[in-house]
Amino acid sequence: MYLPNIKGRIEKDYPLKKLNTWRIGGMTELAVWPRDTEELVSVIDGCRKNNIPFLLLGRGSNVLLPDHGFKGVVIVVTAMDSIRWHGEEVTAEAGYPLMRLAREAGESGLSGLEFACGIPGTLGAAAAINAGAYGGKIGDLVKKVSVLTAEGKIEIIPKNQIAFGYRSSSLLEKECIVLECTLSLHPGDQAVIQAQMQGLMAKRKEHQPLEYPNAGSVFRNPVGDSAGRLIEQAGWKGRRLGDAQVSEKHTNFIVNRGNASSTDILTLIQVIQTDVSEKFDIQLETEIRVI
Ligand SMILES: Cc1cc2nc3c(=O)[nH]c(=O)nc-3n(C[C@H](O)[C@H](O)[C@H](O)COP(=O)(O)OP(=O)(O)OC[C@H]3O[C@@H](n4cnc5c(N)ncnc54)[C@H](O)[C@@H]3O)c2cc1C
Repeated sequence: MYLPNIKGRIEKDYPLKKLNTWRIGGMTELAVWPRDTEELVSVIDGCRKNNIPFLLLGRGSNVLLPDHGFKGVVIVVTAMDSIRWHGEEVTAEAGYPLMRLAREAGESGLSGLEFACGIPGTLGAAAAINAGAYGGKIGDLVKKVSVLTAEGKIEIIPKNQIAFGYRSSSLLEKECIVLECTLSLHPGDQAVIQAQMQGLMAKRKEHQPLEYPNAGSVFRNPVGDSAGRLIEQAGWKGRRLGDAQVSEKHTNFIVNRGNASSTDILTLIQVIQTDVSEKFDIQLETEIRVI
């Protein structure tokens, strides 16, 4: 079996459940936590040379991982978390937690990341996905990113060469791995920024089922509509399949009420898609990534 030669943590036969916020999935043959770009590049290089499938994960807050596990290497970037503040800009490695970044920016009187204070993912995934909330999105703040291209080259890509869409970007389409990201923020009043973040957090606690394992919004909102509204109108609020349940609090969330399997969640997703399509002639697409 291929074993990367890195100083970062390495675990054999590791439960995927521990690597995602839904707490779902079988075992992975190997999980590794590279500590910096050099280690990440060497693991990916090793996987490619040895023809071993790999899966990149941050906090696992936007993925549905398989019950049958992963035959390959799961590369978790959370140990890549160095950060440099320079004036109104900040550069951090891919694994830096977005919520911490938003909080620290606020504490330094830097505005722009308020919307991200409740998004429980990493900066790298957020840049690749163009994570956003309450009208803000990461793409608007990105100045440049450093990536590992699908061809194995490290490149710095300035903002004007990245196309950001709704929960998507050209980085994702080109299978670039974000190594580091520089954001441009702007000065603001510390008290105002913090009050705004507290307000947004309170809103999340009121409207999102944060008491159960979940992966945020399951479906993308169709243009001019809300996936949650359609799901509720179709009568799915609170309905369960095994331990997978359409949240009572927010119908675009599916929560794990204990021992939900990936198959339970996926089946629920598919029956909702079929039902919403039949009732409203709208095809709901998933926002979460099904692995
Ligand atoms: C309670 C809750 C609330 C949420 N609210 C929001 C919200 O308001 N707005 C929002 O946009 N999202 C929200 N999410 C979803 C999620 O937190 C974001 O999409 C987040 O950006 C995902 O980061 P992650 O590190 O968890 O990514 P992961 O789930 O680990 O990975 C997601 C995808 O990105 C890829 N990826 C991971 N790291 C990188 C990298 N460095 N470079 C390239 N690709 C990479 C993975 O391979 C995978 O395909 C929420 C989730 C939860 C659980």
